[in-house]
Amino acid sequence: MIRAAEVARVGVVGAGTMGSGIAHVFGLAGCAVRLVDLDAAALERAHASIERNLSRQVGRELISGDDAEAALGRIRTDRNLVAVEDAEVVVEAASEDSALKFQLFEELAARVGGQTLLASNTSSISITRIAAHVGNPARVIGMHFMNPVPVMRLVEVIRGLETSDAATDLTLGLCKRLSKTAVVANDFPGFVANRILMPMINEAVYCLMEGVADAEAVDTVMKLGMNHPMGPLALADLIGLDTCHAIMRVLHAELGDSKYRPCPLLAKYVAAGRLGRKSGRGFYRYESG
Ligand code: NAD
Repeated sequence: MIRAAEVARVGVVGAGTMGSGIAHVFGLAGCAVRLVDLDAAALERAHASIERNLSRQVGRELISGDDAEAALGRIRTDRNLVAVEDAEVVVEAASEDSALKFQLFEELAARVGGQTLLASNTSSISITRIAAHVGNPARVIGMHFMNPVPVMRLVEVIRGLETSDAATDLTLGLCKRLSKTAVVANDFPGFVANRILMPMINEAVYCLMEGVADAEAVDTVMKLGMNHPMGPLALADLIGLDTCHAIMRVLHAELGDSKYRPCPLLAKYVAAGRLGRKSGRGFYRYESG
């Protein structure tokens, strides 16, 4: 398998909240990035958000204007998976839906070279199950970035049952190249991050539903009382309520314990299209942009 320092072409599939951030950090690290989404509007939003976030980094003197311009120049968008055919690494960041990811990995495996690392940014779907849809499951791995990707230092690296040491080493090398700290976890529902975070968010929604306190009060307790930088409901809005709901459903179905039952209020907000920041309204309201 190729070494992390030699990776020159990276494909990112899904240009939502996470895919745009992943394209951003690989672009800054010097890779030619092909960012693919079925939805042309998502690609336009991703390009605008990458440009905005790069300028923010320039404003904070974290990178130079030249670095930002070069990174943006390395990121191209496309609506077809053909664009990632010659990538040495593909990171999938499409919606949190297992059937969709299984199909995408089948298609990716048929298109890319036999040695290409296939990583998924899934929050909760089993890497072992995703890998079962690929002829060579040894090269499939979880590369779970945190939101917002350019800011958050952690990447949770998840080894599926068949993931090889070579794929793990390459992924750890890539994290280092992106200046991220990697933590390796085994493949269990929700891995570490969401096994702990999502039940807390879900419980915060139960507090809201049962009238224990309003949203601001719930978030203030966790910020000022527990020293969390953001309250759980504001964090749920940042993550996306549909994503939170999908993750709770995976934890509930796969661990089989009623303590993971998704809060009905969370399901109701998703059904109403209140998805958090990305739709302008979740537990709070957001101005566009
Ligand atoms: P999102 O809804 O913002 O974006 C998903 C994108 O995938 C959309 O633009 C959609 O058009 C695209 N898509 C759907 N089907 C596709 C296909 N067949 N081909 C190409 N693109 C397709 O979602 P997100 O929040 O960016 O989440 C993406 C993944 O990252 C999920 O697996 C999620 O669980 C995971 N994740 C999310 C967060 C978070 O905080 N939002 C954090 C870590 C991991």
